[in-house]
Amino acid sequence: MKSGLLVVISGPAGVGKGSIVKEMMKLSDKVVLSVSATTRAPRPNEREGINYFFKSREQFEEMIRKDELIEWVEYCGNYYGTPREFVLGEIEKGHIVVLEIEVEGAANVRRLFPDSVLCFVLPPDYYELENRLRGRGTEDEETIKRRLQRAREEFQHIDEYDYIILNDTISSAAQRFMNIIESEQMKTHRNKDLINKFKNI
Ligand code: 5GP
Repeated sequence: MKSGLLVVISGPAGVGKGSIVKEMMKLSDKVVLSVSATTRAPRPNEREGINYFFKSREQFEEMIRKDELIEWVEYCGNYYGTPREFVLGEIEKGHIVVLEIEVEGAANVRRLFPDSVLCFVLPPDYYELENRLRGRGTEDEETIKRRLQRAREEFQHIDEYDYIILNDTISSAAQRFMNIIESEQMKTHRNKDLINKFKNI
């Protein structure tokens, strides 16, 4: 029997994390995405409860006070955080819970859940990332510059992750993730009950 798994996906803005996760959800109905809370304004194509739970700063700070978040950070001037109840409930159900979060949050998740699997998505090259971010057309120039600077800072933390995933095409990146998940689920330390059954035959 396969147990639940907490998978963290980080990577610079514009690298395609969202598209990869969508593709993974098509490949397996066990994969669920944790929807974060944020104080960032919604982009035109974003929907409440699908992309984020959009909150005011006051509402977000209330969530912090009530301990409703597993982790939270301030990133480029806005709060972002992972709701606790959904994540714990889905792991309990044996699902593969994906957190699409930045590096500071990933390090906090690793401290709280040492069993989590941390993956960092890389673009084929840096200039392609810049083009993708500009091509998206949802951010102004100052925000793009801030996010590219932040990307360079995030690259300094890649060693803290278990895996790097090259996003050359969405479908191959998603397949790489699924392969990692499958291997992780077969690790002996995640299958103690099954192993004990065989030991006691
Ligand atoms: P964006 O504004 O582009 O949607 O997200 C900005 C960054 O915040 C991305 O790197 C994204 O992965 C990260 N992020 C989104 N939700 C969370 C969260 O709940 N916690 C943390 N630590 N980072 C998050």
